[in-house]
Amino acid sequence: MTGFDCSKLLSRRTAAVEEAAIIRMAQRARDLRAQGRDVISLTLGEPDFDTPRHIQAAANEAMRKGYTHYAPVPGIPLLREAIARKLRSENGLDYAAGQIVLSNGAKQAVTNAMFATIDPGDEAVFLAPFWVAYEGILRMAGGVPVVLPSDVSTGFKVPPSHIARAITPKTKLLILNFPNNPSGAVYEREALKQIAEVIRDHHQMLVISDEIYEYISYGGTLTSFGSLPGMIERTITVNGFSKAFAMTGWRLGYAAAPEAVARAMAKVQGTFTAGANAFVQHAAIAALEGGREDVERMRETYRRRRAIVMEQLRNIDGVTVQEPEGTFYAFPDVSQWLRKVTHLGSVDELCDWLLENHGLALVPGSAFGDANCVRISFAASEADIAEGLRRLRVALG
Ligand code: PLP
Repeated sequence: MTGFDCSKLLSRRTAAVEEAAIIRMAQRARDLRAQGRDVISLTLGEPDFDTPRHIQAAANEAMRKGYTHYAPVPGIPLLREAIARKLRSENGLDYAAGQIVLSNGAKQAVTNAMFATIDPGDEAVFLAPFWVAYEGILRMAGGVPVVLPSDVSTGFKVPPSHIARAITPKTKLLILNFPNNPSGAVYEREALKQIAEVIRDHHQMLVISDEIYEYISYGGTLTSFGSLPGMIERTITVNGFSKAFAMTGWRLGYAAAPEAVARAMAKVQGTFTAGANAFVQHAAIAALEGGREDVERMRETYRRRRAIVMEQLRNIDGVTVQEPEGTFYAFPDVSQWLRKVTHLGSVDELCDWLLENHGLALVPGSAFGDANCVRISFAASEADIAEGLRRLRVALG
């Protein structure tokens, strides 16, 4: 070792982005467990189910047939066609197969979309709370986030008039994500129509609609933003296989976009990586076309777990909680509780204290642009959820 310090050689682009709090908290929980500590982690948004058997079988079969080579950058034609059919029949979205780009997870789809559209200094409007990765990706692309707050009292919904006021000549993107990670909120069709009216005359901007939790939704029908009149040519719809089909480790997501944007996204992806895994793409056809029974079974399990979490949270004094309409996250507001105590000043300190003193790992809401809340993932076993919530009640009781 010469003591040479490489840290000064890192790009400004990298320095502008912080390590994601979700990954940090999950890793701390693992480290403590490795030291023999008893820790319940309700941090990650990772289905605890196995990928359905027919999807696994399709992947094995595809490998056996030799689909182990590079796939075309935007994806294999059969899957692009299957996705176009799915988006048309289930979401009312009229994208052609050629407008679909398969990626290494929806995260890469968001990356492609931002790198294809954002120039340094361009603004993207985020509705808080928002999935933490959007900010890191945007900053790496040189963009500037404009964050509009919301809170538990309004069901975590930002009024469309606030969006209208946030738009400037530099606004390039509006990011929508319903059901929302972390709040579980779903905007009704009427609210989305009002948002469409707001952006209709702002020709400098597009919308990313991240619909990755569409199948983990407990209420009525969801509206895909791009299905609203005139919005298909303004919308980059992002979706993927991780959450609905319990395929997080397979890494497959996609975006459907106006043709010029889809071409640019494929160019970004072709520059950074290449086509997504070939045999996983074949398995994804089986996922899309093999019925929705597994998806429904998992959703009903999440619904039961949601009830357990809600019942416990509603009984803690100083905690206000909105029932999530979708996703497998609860996002209780703990600000009143924090005001009652003197030894903890923020949700970050609260999460550190819960982990160190009560063996419970949660993610502070500050990671999602909301310093009043903590995120609890119920993509975990019922035993872990029950014990985790018991620890939370003891800690906050
Ligand atoms: N979009 C949202 C809102 C998410 O919460 C996540 C994962 O947590 C993703 C996209 C990324 O999913 P993928 O595993 O397909 O990259």
